[in-house]
Amino acid sequence: MQLTVLGCYGPYPAAGQNCSGYLVEDEAAVVLLDCGSGVLSRLRHFVEPWELNAVILTHLHSDHMADVLIIRYALLIKRLQEAGLPLLVYAPAQPKEEFSRLAYKNVVQSKPLSSNTTLTIGTMRFTFTPAVHAITAYMITVESGGKKLVYSGDTEYFPRMHGFFHRELGLFYYAKSVGSRAGSRRF
Ligand SMILES: [Zn+2]
Repeated sequence: MQLTVLGCYGPYPAAGQNCSGYLVEDEAAVVLLDCGSGVLSRLRHFVEPWELNAVILTHLHSDHMADVLIIRYALLIKRLQEAGLPLLVYAPAQPKEEFSRLAYKNVVQSKPLSSNTTLTIGTMRFTFTPAVHAITAYMITVESGGKKLVYSGDTEYFPRMHGFFHRELGLFYYAKSVGSRAGSRRF
């Protein structure tokens, strides 16, 4: 499993940087976790948006999802040239008006996620734990090949947080605590 940090700023980026976006991939699949402002531009150094197997959004604040609205246009133009399946975008179903903006023509299909959701994409298994935030938000655990990664997204401290991360034993990325340098790490 490989992690590439595409952006980690919020609620708005520094000059030349991007809001939250983390690419996780194995030999079989590539998945984007969060897709904030500027992420599409950085993503294209690694993969094209039509090559993604899925996008998973921790929550629907714009610094975590704004570029999904731009990816829709890239996919629409790509699909005029070449047939393909819609991009699956998983996200909390709330706020309803934000969730309703994700699905787009025949190029983006939105799927609600909850703490009961388990996704298997390639060899990667994704599970979701409620975060403590102003709107519905989830932390994402990714497991593959005996390794585990936890991405908190935005969350406030909560009493069981230490136990949660201790139990998960993953690498903890908190969007606002990561340095400004984008980079890639293999697990
Ligand atoms: Zn947020």
